[in-house]
Amino acid sequence: MGLTIERDAAANLYMTMPGRDPAAKPVVIGSHLDSVPHGGNFDGAAGVVAGLVAIRALRSLEYTLPHNVTVMGIRAEESIWFQVSYIGSRSALGVLPDGSLDARRIDTGRPLSDHIAECGGDPEKLRQGQRYFDPARLRAFIELHIEQAPSLVEAGRAVGIGTGIPGNFRYPDAWIEGSNDHVGLPRRFRRDAAMAGAAFAMALDGLWEEYDRRGVPMACTLGRFHTDAKQHGLTIVPGAFHFSLDIRAYDEAVLAELDQRVDAIVAGIEQTRGVRFHLGTKARAAVGPVDPGIRAALTRGAATLGIDTIDLGSPASHDAAAFAANGVRMGLIFVRNANGSHNPFEAMEIEDFLDGTTILTEWLVNQASDEA
Ligand SMILES: [Zn+2]
Repeated sequence: MGLTIERDAAANLYMTMPGRDPAAKPVVIGSHLDSVPHGGNFDGAAGVVAGLVAIRALRSLEYTLPHNVTVMGIRAEESIWFQVSYIGSRSALGVLPDGSLDARRIDTGRPLSDHIAECGGDPEKLRQGQRYFDPARLRAFIELHIEQAPSLVEAGRAVGIGTGIPGNFRYPDAWIEGSNDHVGLPRRFRRDAAMAGAAFAMALDGLWEEYDRRGVPMACTLGRFHTDAKQHGLTIVPGAFHFSLDIRAYDEAVLAELDQRVDAIVAGIEQTRGVRFHLGTKARAAVGPVDPGIRAALTRGAATLGIDTIDLGSPASHDAAAFAANGVRMGLIFVRNANGSHNPFEAMEIEDFLDGTTILTEWLVNQASDEA
């Protein structure tokens, strides 16, 4: 397709269609190419293919944009492997958090730096802070992604225009310390870590219900939730209980408030149940605001094309949030998907995907150059 192909120190892939003025700020279209165990076909990859389809359309029309368009295949967005968010996109922007390169992959136990080197990257350059993009030199970042909830199915629309990406705080490796005791121990003497874990889960669910009632979007997930396999058993009061926690919301003030509420729940359970919470490392990702101008332009473009869209807050995290957090104007296009995500049954119809891609292409031709 006549594109310039490059890779950076994190082994991200860049495919650039040159514009009339190569010095003009480029548009970046991208998403991630990694997945989770038993993931589906479309989570991530659809957004990379969308960029290439848009370029193919421009090529077939022999249309040259004033500025470069770079399609980016991003590495390691899924934080399940190293429990670090946005590894590829944050590396590209030079803002990978300290210590990330030493994070160990959950299955191999080897550090991220080893895996980057194995994929043809250069972790030493990343350690020295080398980046591919200066965020101040980017026109915009656009990500097309399958929706990971059924809102578009419910609304009967093929495409949603993104309104924002949630930020989060996380405890990847938390545990509750109680006391291992005999199954016959009366309740008043117990320091039961599993019951404390259950109380914690129910309190979090109550908190979520309260926010739901107030119409404030958030989500709360205990992804791991278990007693200690080395010690647990039918006749033992559990002395240790392990969990991971992800809490997400669309507003930094809401996140800060939730942070305090979780601390208060923890303190209350410690007091009433005689246990201790060890929350461990805390990770954060900032809320990813969508640029209002890009959102309006995508909506306008879709209407011009006769494609009905709805406004949609992203249920999931996306690399676009890393760009937004570093001052890059960002837009999101979601495509209907019937069966959720992070499972093999992701179901995106190609007609729906092409509707999303058409909106993206229209934006590139008619609107991207006017802005910024
Ligand atoms: Zn994804």
